[in-house]
Amino acid sequence: MSHEAISVFDMFKIGVGPSSSHTLGPWRAAQLFTRTLEEKNLLNEVQSVEVLLYGSLAKTGIGHGTDIAVQLGLSGDDPVTFDVNSINAKIADIKNMRKILLAGRHEIDFTPSDDIEFLVAETLPFHPNALSFLVSMRNGDSFAETFYSIGGGFVVQEPKPDAIVTGSPQDAITLPFPVNTADELLHWCRTTGMAIHEVVMENENSWRPEAETKAGILNIWRVMKECIYRGCNTEGYLPGGLNVKRRAFDVNKKLMQGKIENNYDEWLSHIHAGGNSFNYILDCVSCFALAVNEENAAFGRVVTAPTNGAAGVIPAVLQYFISFCNGNDDDKIVKFLLTASEVGSIFKKGATISAAMGGCQAEIGVSSAMAAAALTESLGGTQRQTLMAAEIAMEHHLGMTCDPIAGLVQIPCIERNTMGAIKAITACQLALQSTPDFAKVSLDGVIKTMWDTALDMNSKYKETADGGLAVNIPISLSEC
Ligand code: SF4
Repeated sequence: MSHEAISVFDMFKIGVGPSSSHTLGPWRAAQLFTRTLEEKNLLNEVQSVEVLLYGSLAKTGIGHGTDIAVQLGLSGDDPVTFDVNSINAKIADIKNMRKILLAGRHEIDFTPSDDIEFLVAETLPFHPNALSFLVSMRNGDSFAETFYSIGGGFVVQEPKPDAIVTGSPQDAITLPFPVNTADELLHWCRTTGMAIHEVVMENENSWRPEAETKAGILNIWRVMKECIYRGCNTEGYLPGGLNVKRRAFDVNKKLMQGKIENNYDEWLSHIHAGGNSFNYILDCVSCFALAVNEENAAFGRVVTAPTNGAAGVIPAVLQYFISFCNGNDDDKIVKFLLTASEVGSIFKKGATISAAMGGCQAEIGVSSAMAAAALTESLGGTQRQTLMAAEIAMEHHLGMTCDPIAGLVQIPCIERNTMGAIKAITACQLALQSTPDFAKVSLDGVIKTMWDTALDMNSKYKETADGGLAVNIPISLSEC
């Protein structure tokens, strides 16, 4: 059996909200397309570009900023480094000037409302999130490429859908401990005596030196914690027209009890000093998750974990570990994220992390399972308890549909991250109090069940905003 090699940096990617499949993936696809034009020496010959968005990208693309993402990608901007505060101005410039600077250096005419087409009635067979770029050359030739955004910011290209074009280099990578399933992971733990995070780190060493991996993971955590802090300290309403009020700001204010915080470290010490009553911890965890996903909805800088819509669950649980479980230590943070990433990659290989394929169980459900496993191992659980926690967390997300109101990653998405985080903590606690010998459901069993459920799920509930809350809640979108 072949083993897809997925690195921690494939599961956790620094990007821009609000959606990994509808924003980050299309952004990456546009970058890849312009790179191909450069490699083929076609860039300076391009006269016009047309972007076709199919299926789910067409149906909820406006709410998820897909049109914005492809314009930034075509312009040569990078989602990791681009100043998110400049997005509106740049998009307004393209619209007003009717020009785009392809790859940052070749200017062509471009009218977003004409040159980006939302083909809501068309779906390509390989995946619901498809987009094509068509260029016409000055000499009359044309050139086109099609990409699929398959969830979590991963992008694959036609005609080789099995070739991942974003992600860690696959060529010549032979992992010492290849893993497709939870059973295989457990096998390596048993035969080597290593903890899960140690097996993952050994595999990561195939890509780069350990010190580099650690530094990269701590950089991921830096972006996550800055996102929590920013979300806790930003007041107002989210963009998109639903008029959703940001709540993390008010909750955080109550948690601070009048204390002033000027930076993350001061904030952390105030959080820590607030006690450890059940209600206080619940409020804190909810606040952490709300903060991240409000930032995500506002096109802020976030880390896909494993997606943007579910970006708040893992930071909230890790922040809980740091604030209330003595987890404020670089090594502990690295181990936490290594274990979380491995569980996410097993879900990706055995099922999906794309809501367009599997509904919200694939986003919030997977992130909750990742967080539950990481917390359990971090709190001293055995390898089997760690995998059991992931199983419990997913078992109670099975069948959860994706039904974002107005196609915006706001309702139910933002609150749903608080639920995913709390369920992860509950699943961890339950696993720590349990004997895996008596468990009836395995992690691999629940992953297969999730995938079967995904296949049976009506497409109305797969990031199309055609069903569920998206059609039952009458909200006017006067500003959209
Ligand atoms: S409902 Fe869930 S899967 Fe759908 S956009 Fe919201 S968070 Fe993502």
